[in-house]
Amino acid sequence: MKRIIILGSSGSIGRQTLDVISKMRGYIKVEGLAVNSNVEVLKSQIKKFKPAMVSVSNFEAAENLKKWCILNNIKTIVYSGNESLEKIVTLSIVDMVLVSIVGAIGLKSVVAAIKTKKNIAIANKESIVGAGYYIVNLACKMGVSILPVDSELSAIFQCCNGEKKSQIKRIILTASGGPFYKYSKDFSKITVEQTLNHPTWKMGKKITVDSATLMNKGLEAIEVSILFGIPINKIEIVIHPQSIVHSLVEYIDGSVIAQLSNPDMKLPIQYALTYPERMSSNIKSLSLWKVEKLEFYKPDFNKFPCLKFAYFAANKGYTMPAVMNAANEVAVEAFLNKRIKFTDIVKIVEKTMKNHEILKNMSLNSFYQADLWARQYAEKLFEKI
Ligand code: MG
Repeated sequence: MKRIIILGSSGSIGRQTLDVISKMRGYIKVEGLAVNSNVEVLKSQIKKFKPAMVSVSNFEAAENLKKWCILNNIKTIVYSGNESLEKIVTLSIVDMVLVSIVGAIGLKSVVAAIKTKKNIAIANKESIVGAGYYIVNLACKMGVSILPVDSELSAIFQCCNGEKKSQIKRIILTASGGPFYKYSKDFSKITVEQTLNHPTWKMGKKITVDSATLMNKGLEAIEVSILFGIPINKIEIVIHPQSIVHSLVEYIDGSVIAQLSNPDMKLPIQYALTYPERMSSNIKSLSLWKVEKLEFYKPDFNKFPCLKFAYFAANKGYTMPAVMNAANEVAVEAFLNKRIKFTDIVKIVEKTMKNHEILKNMSLNSFYQADLWARQYAEKLFEKI
């Protein structure tokens, strides 16, 4: 039986992971769960999966949960505060930590998990974008694997199975295009409600906004480049509105291998959990004649400048991707809180990147320094816009 910890268990990926696990009957034991503050969801998860320990970052919410555990005679140990994430990762004896926390804040627990020799199932692209080279080197040194959970990265991972990395010519990363790919009206009038209405994937708020600006695809391109060791200029993005082809890999002989399925996050989640095995699932079988057509378009980098920023950041390297990511996190949060317009996200990210002086160092410290600088700089821009 595999033993697992899920960080971010109340979020979209966390809940779907537990759903997948509950259908695997006896294959995986959930040893630990972590949430920020949503203890109501966590309570039902504790009842069902009986983890040995949980972490709740918010102190008040953690106190509430501790009382509930005593009242209900539940033996699960509750840790609280931000450090508690690292605590449950370090203390537990598990095979895998699934990281589905949103944002670069997930980095500390990723590092703690790798240092204590746990395999990582990664659904936290922000930490890979910001400090990916450090993480990959550390994982290599500690002999642990990093398995992608994201659908496109899982597709690429599957298309590379048994192949030689040196024989990859190009990676073709697909993007649904989000809700505004064909939108021809004024982008500055786009509302939060319109943005959260994604055509093919049901996801958390931050990633849904990133899908609308296409920053999500920019982040993924950088993530692919780091995790698969492929230069960013060999990664091509293609808009594929049906989200059936999850990505493709072209080899030097001209063969292009793709991975297809109906859009359902439970498939890449399950593959990360069962790798290198496959297991039967309830995922709806793909019927190509029902899908009828698969469309592919060239993305418009001028309409969606976040794509430009991502290639620029990856080519600059060092701390630039971390800065792009941090500025974007701050701007998306402000947009969701209706402090800024949709088009301000691009402006804030661009200005922050322009004013960043790269730290030519790959240490964890320079990542934190650049990340903090970008957040503070981006925050100051809100008043000026
Ligand atoms: Mg994705």
